[in-house]
Amino acid sequence: MRNKLVAGNWKMNGSIAQNKALLDGVAAGFAALLSSGDTAKGVQCAVCVPFPYLFQAQSVLQGSKLAWGAQNLSQYEKGAYTGEVSASMLRDFACRYVIVGHSERRALYGESDAIVADKFEAAINAGLIPILCVGETLAEREANVTEQVVARQLDAVIVKCGAASLAKAVVAYEPVWAIGTGKTASPEQAQAVHAFVRNKIAQLDGAVADGLQILYGGSMKASNAVELLSMADIDGGLIGGAALDADEFLAICRAAQR
Ligand code: PEP
Repeated sequence: MRNKLVAGNWKMNGSIAQNKALLDGVAAGFAALLSSGDTAKGVQCAVCVPFPYLFQAQSVLQGSKLAWGAQNLSQYEKGAYTGEVSASMLRDFACRYVIVGHSERRALYGESDAIVADKFEAAINAGLIPILCVGETLAEREANVTEQVVARQLDAVIVKCGAASLAKAVVAYEPVWAIGTGKTASPEQAQAVHAFVRNKIAQLDGAVADGLQILYGGSMKASNAVELLSMADIDGGLIGGAALDADEFLAICRAAQR
């Protein structure tokens, strides 16, 4: 049985003062949630914070059951890449996770499937767990090409790094039309794509497919988490807006417990 993972994506939000209360609140609430049985309850939790706050996240969360990570990384190891942050730098802050290929990076910063695959590889090589985001736009859903889009995004990574690399990764299905819009995919819509992802990978490696955590992302909140997380192939959530409120985020973690 796969553990559920609830990962927060803070996006470009926060300040040292605001983060302190949020990190303390989430850490305390998550510890209380686990107090009767640790990960036996099958839920893991992480927050992906902006680069400048990684040190703060590490300082507050080390020793807790919460993991932390970043929202992006460079595909390059080091050198003349002004403004970029490498995988080994993220390791310096003991990150466990890094989001790769978020739709905002693809759409706003021109990250192609090939660049996303390079970043995925950089993360794996450094021992970070990439949270690989895939998902279709509204126009693509309406044109009935959701599966083709998701397959293309996955294939870029599989061709470059091999299906076995997904054993060290997490996939997040995030329909672009549901991110930050308040429009959530229905549990059935999400499940259909999650099952498609798992079946596609199963054709290459059954064990990897069975173990793969596939998160849903797109306006997940406390009020819809139970329904979404009860679907067979939904193994957690990648949470944007609702991750900025400790109570809301913890309510999603609670919904992920089995
Ligand atoms: C996200 O940014 O990955 C996301 C899922 O955002 P939201 O939950 O706000 O839709």
